[in-house]
Amino acid sequence: MNSDDEIYMEGSASSEDDMDDECLSDDDGIARHDQSASDYLNKKDKDNEVLDHDSLEAEMKKAISEVEAVLQVKTGVCRILLHKYKWNKESLLERFYEHPDTIAFLIDAQVIPRQQEVIPAGDAECDICCSMDELSGLSCNHRACAECWQAYLTNKIVSDAQSEIECMAPNCKLLIEDEKVLSYISDPTMVSKYRKLMVASYVEINCLLRWCPGIDCGKAVKVSHWEPRLVVCSCGTCFCFSCGQNWHEPLNCRHLKKWIKKCQDDSETMNWINANTKDCPKCMIPIEKNGGCNRMLCTNSGCRYEFCWMCLEPWTKHGYQYACNGYDETAVKNPQDAQEISRANLKRYLFYFNRYMGHEQSLQLEGKLNIKVAKKMEQMENMSMSWIEVQFLRKAVDILSECRRTLMYTYAFAFYLKKDNNSIIFESNQANLEMETEQLSGFLERDLEDEDLVTLKQKVQDKYRYVEQRRKVLLDHCAEGAEQDIWQYND
Ligand SMILES: [Zn+2]
Ligand SMILES: [Zn+2]
Ligand SMILES: [Zn+2]
Ligand SMILES: [Zn+2]
Ligand SMILES: [Zn+2]
Ligand SMILES: [Zn+2]
Repeated sequence: MNSDDEIYMEGSASSEDDMDDECLSDDDGIARHDQSASDYLNKKDKDNEVLDHDSLEAEMKKAISEVEAVLQVKTGVCRILLHKYKWNKESLLERFYEHPDTIAFLIDAQVIPRQQEVIPAGDAECDICCSMDELSGLSCNHRACAECWQAYLTNKIVSDAQSEIECMAPNCKLLIEDEKVLSYISDPTMVSKYRKLMVASYVEINCLLRWCPGIDCGKAVKVSHWEPRLVVCSCGTCFCFSCGQNWHEPLNCRHLKKWIKKCQDDSETMNWINANTKDCPKCMIPIEKNGGCNRMLCTNSGCRYEFCWMCLEPWTKHGYQYACNGYDETAVKNPQDAQEISRANLKRYLFYFNRYMGHEQSLQLEGKLNIKVAKKMEQMENMSMSWIEVQFLRKAVDILSECRRTLMYTYAFAFYLKKDNNSIIFESNQANLEMETEQLSGFLERDLEDEDLVTLKQKVQDKYRYVEQRRKVLLDHCAEGAEQDIWQYND
């Protein structure tokens, strides 16, 4: 039902060149949302409404009747016209009144036929099934028996999932009004299917609406003006209004789309095993990763080597002098032939892909923290802390997830970025955020039991505030860069 691509893509289904395309963006910028999703949820946003099927249908009908009152044409015709103008009423009326030739306008909009067939008198043979029967049809006078119409419409509704259906005659572009469609189909399930399709089409072509991608949600989010931004559905799903994917700041929608496609297409990445075990770089015994934190401690009691899961280098080496987040472009020196170039490109890509997946994996593993933290909060409440006082732990887990998600997308962002002074600043922000995120993760995964409550609270709060700040610095820098067009991409 949800076709992200079509809405996002330039020139979706029926966009004709004379139509207003308010939905389209330059798309290299990404709008900002400073709050984390959890903050966002707590704050009622007047600018973003969640609508279920019935309210969507009611809105659609309201828009239709408003136009109907002005244009004095049938409801079904109004719906077709509004659909053509992506449910932008003003734009439709403006074009309608500005157009020098109303008939031509209506022909273009496929609501009146280009030409009318002459009808012979009396019963005739149905062209489709060849039976002699009472024939009926549309204003183009293309006719068939009722059974053939019904079969044709049923097929369009069921197989093609269409609610804008053209006349059965080949080359006749006339769209069939809803009243007409409903006069041929009578089966209640078919009628309700058709109504669902009308609402779906209303949502999908309307720039101010988007289906929530949440599984089995079925609601749509409505905004007052179009821009790439984080929206939150009443079911809790957070997504990018512009492309319907997970919120992906600082990556823009165009690069996200390319990135997802690249990850799917590339046979190399198919081989990326969700590796939960790696050998300790020192003693070589296999170490299992069962938490999100990338600071690993070898479980071999004779070794206890601390290393970075991402790069396998000693953890102590990481810090403000050394970070492993940047790809060393000089790793491959002056590739000579095509094969060397493609190998170098692949190596570079795998570097970013690996880190992207690494943070995604951490995000999954840190999901377990919710249970752990809930237990701890209960325990703290039993030790005389109030409900409000223990909420900092939940907040810390939320912020950790936000940071993991941001980090994931920073690696896709970095993949498309050319090396220059700005990308160096970005990389240092990224290294910083990564380092702080690992520390926050470490606190929550390891240190919950080791501290007295007052120290723990202080420590966790200080850390998550600082991490949030690092995240904001990074995202602000990316957003400002997009606004000022400073990012050099290698598409
Ligand atoms: Zn027939
Ligand atoms: Zn026709
Ligand atoms: Zn939802
Ligand atoms: Zn997007
Ligand atoms: Zn070891
Ligand atoms: Zn590392």
